[in-house]
Amino acid sequence: MKFLLLFFIFMVLLWQWRQARSPKVRQAARKSSPAAAPASMVACAHCGLHLPTDEALPGRQGSYCSAAHRQAREA
Ligand SMILES: [Zn+2]
Repeated sequence: MKFLLLFFIFMVLLWQWRQARSPKVRQAARKSSPAAAPASMVACAHCGLHLPTDEALPGRQGSYCSAAHRQAREA
């Protein structure tokens, strides 16, 4: 009976340890992917401002930092 109780405590501790650990691993994985993102930067075709590719606005003559710059360049 004592062994069963110890086994139960061990399983609860193991479960809590895994619960506490897994979100941190997922956060680290999320943090590492934006850290790799600065490699993909584009310059605004109007003002030359560098910004991440996913934030850039695509235009006919390149990428832009804002809709106003896209309009100023391509209008
Ligand atoms: Zn711009």
